[in-house]
Amino acid sequence: MEFSILADAFSKMELTTKRLELTQYLVELFKKTPHDVISRTVYLLQGKLRPDFEGVELGVAEKLAIRAIAKSAGLDNAEKKIEEEYRKSGDLGHAASKILEQKKQTTFIVEYITIERVYENLYTIAKLEGSKTQDRKIKYISGLLNDASPVEAKFILKILLGTLRLGIAENTVMDALAIAFTDNKENRKVLEHAYNVSSDLGKVAETIAKKGLAGIEEFKINLFNPIRPMLADRVKSEEEAIEKLGIKFAAEYKLDGERVQLHIEGDKVVLFSRSLENITSYYPDIVEKIPKTILAQKVILEAEAVAINENTGEFLPFQELMHRRRKYEIEKAVLQYPITVNFFDVLYYDGKSCLELEYKERRSLLEKIIKEDDFAKYVPMSYISNQNEIEEFLENSINSGCEGVMLKMLDKPYHAGARGSFWLKLKREYRNELGDSLDLVVIGAFFGKGRRTGKYGTFLLASCDYDTDTFTSICKVGTGFKDEDLDQIYQILSNKVTIKKNPRIDSKMEADVWFEPELVIEIVASEITLSPIHMAARNKIRKDTGLALRFPKFTGKIRLEKDADDASTNEEVLTLFKGQKKVAHDRNLM
Ligand code: AMP
Repeated sequence: MEFSILADAFSKMELTTKRLELTQYLVELFKKTPHDVISRTVYLLQGKLRPDFEGVELGVAEKLAIRAIAKSAGLDNAEKKIEEEYRKSGDLGHAASKILEQKKQTTFIVEYITIERVYENLYTIAKLEGSKTQDRKIKYISGLLNDASPVEAKFILKILLGTLRLGIAENTVMDALAIAFTDNKENRKVLEHAYNVSSDLGKVAETIAKKGLAGIEEFKINLFNPIRPMLADRVKSEEEAIEKLGIKFAAEYKLDGERVQLHIEGDKVVLFSRSLENITSYYPDIVEKIPKTILAQKVILEAEAVAINENTGEFLPFQELMHRRRKYEIEKAVLQYPITVNFFDVLYYDGKSCLELEYKERRSLLEKIIKEDDFAKYVPMSYISNQNEIEEFLENSINSGCEGVMLKMLDKPYHAGARGSFWLKLKREYRNELGDSLDLVVIGAFFGKGRRTGKYGTFLLASCDYDTDTFTSICKVGTGFKDEDLDQIYQILSNKVTIKKNPRIDSKMEADVWFEPELVIEIVASEITLSPIHMAARNKIRKDTGLALRFPKFTGKIRLEKDADDASTNEEVLTLFKGQKKVAHDRNLM
């Protein structure tokens, strides 16, 4: 298929921020796409080559791209001219198309480039290793640019540089696939299940295109393909938990570590984070020790890896564990920051999915599969049948250094990729307090003054709105940051800056700089108030009014393990807001 069809669709999508229009453009595109290239098309439109968990990174630096464009342009002083254009527009893809336009006017293109060729070349570039990698990359890139039209060149570069930001959410892609191939948007639900068990949108697209709904319904779990994790709603009190769960349920310690999905076959172990990144290299100790404790051939398990004090066995906070996130000297970090692996679920066992099993069946299977030792443990669990028992369990959990408890319905399946009320989290600080913590997405920033000149001093944060698939502004925050925090956040955000606001961001407040909504940080606040400016839960309490955080403060936790879609939702914010009113009301009555 000609790459120009994709480039034209990208050009249209760049101009809109409306989800319905984006969906319509995608439907048109998918209908035109041959089934053999649809998975590649889906990856490319997300600016990727493969699903995230495979970790295929293009990693082309701007300097190298400029050299490749210059080579292809063949003009005098080409590099200088490109840099000048780049400075003007702030977009290297755009600069390339301008410069190449000058050349194309004098030459005649004979060959159309295809999606297949672009994809193959990009994939080769991503996989290049060894000597002269830089020169070989330049050769491939300029080879593509030579045959590309200026518009095609623009998008090839954006994909190469990781700056193709069309703001298309996975849900929008699935809506479009359902419409294009089944004529019914409602079938999104079936596609969602397939995506939740495979985490591979390209594969889902190819299956629906080639085999229709019947193929999607047969989608199976594959070992070493991560499953999208099940998430919990929050409750503020033991009373609320009992209201929602009845009187018989399981309570587990909520450990403050990193969620790890372990895929194991014999001695082969692959570990995925909560956001499905392959994190095997950070945990050589898990790879070495866990297979010896497993009584099964093939399994997928979920656990929380927690840093511990080796002398006392006590759990240490999450920040300790994050020292493991490094490229070099991992072996040293393993000795310096010892951990235990605390299992809480089993998703796949010897060739069969366990997702459909009830919680209590999965838990007893888990206890059969793992032999506990100093390193491998089950998360402490207790069956609860009244309020006193939760209180006691919560107390014990906090005393052993945990954040709170997870409460789980006994007869419910594992709902991959979903947040819902089958699992509830109850943290200590939620109980009747307003000083709550929320995980919020950094969507924009304002430049600092004084000591913070040249750095970002204040950030614009957003919560997640599931109904509209947007990130809604909820507060500006500038307190709680140490200088090291600001440096680190600045670093992380440096490759997330966007020229225009991402279409999924919903904010009336204008920031100095906008970012791709990706980074999540933890915030506490004194109160949630009604706000005419902020967009969180807008119109839910009062017309033209949203909710905002009062006196927000950064807690010191950058939640690298979380995706923006895992950030706190407006439903949670609304629950907290309502709870806070109830507490105030109860206090007034006392
Ligand atoms: P939160 O990050 O506050 O949304 O809480 C959910 C996270 O708690 C999960 O992603 C896990 O990393 C962690 N967690 C700790 N203990 C458990 C447990 N017993 N069951 C499930 N998740 C747990």
